[in-house]
Amino acid sequence: MGMVRTGQVRSPARDSRPPPAIAYRIGDRVYLNVTSRCTLRCRFCPKFQGLWTVADRALRMPISREPSVAEIIAAARAQGPCVEYVFCGLGEPTLRIATVLAAASVLRATGIPIRLNTDGLGSLVHGRNVAAELDGLIDRVSISLNAADEASYERWCRPRRPDSYPAMLAFAAACRDFVPKVTLSAVAGLAGVDIAACADIAARLNVEFRARPLESTDGRSFRVR
Ligand code: SF4
Repeated sequence: MGMVRTGQVRSPARDSRPPPAIAYRIGDRVYLNVTSRCTLRCRFCPKFQGLWTVADRALRMPISREPSVAEIIAAARAQGPCVEYVFCGLGEPTLRIATVLAAASVLRATGIPIRLNTDGLGSLVHGRNVAAELDGLIDRVSISLNAADEASYERWCRPRRPDSYPAMLAFAAACRDFVPKVTLSAVAGLAGVDIAACADIAARLNVEFRARPLESTDGRSFRVR
């Protein structure tokens, strides 16, 4: 800490970091960042490597800077036309499910489809059937399966709550009744993660599957979606 001479007034500490992006564009999609908090602590997550940017946008979002419904809507509209709005991260959108759904209910008026990228633990966290709340507001839900067995899931995703793996699978099954398109995803290339077995789980649940790459977007950051 530097010395302060007698009589000098120390100016209040300022947060010099750029304001977090609430909305950002990748191609023809607009991604909506509503929180940096997570129910998982995935070992492959860029934020646990100190990387908080996606497509050159800073996403780190202290709780005090989490956006309101009005701020989300304004940020989304400011991005202009797109083919899809995606509630994404680097954080778990369903931790703010009321805010997400309130924003979605307004953005629906644009006619642009709305996707929710989630770890699938919303019902476990909130203690109610969050899948039912997506009805009529979310067109697609993409759920991070991330592993074909609980032990691998625990190792890679380090969930904060017990029984997260079965809760995530139950959430995926529940979503089938309320969301037109349900996709399970897993990161390809992680040691011990059997992508073919992940695809089998999706097939058994009668939902879609996508193996997603862990790819660098700008040489410093990664896209996780
Ligand atoms: S990869 Fe996604 S779910 Fe996992 S810790 Fe990162 S933001 Fe959270």
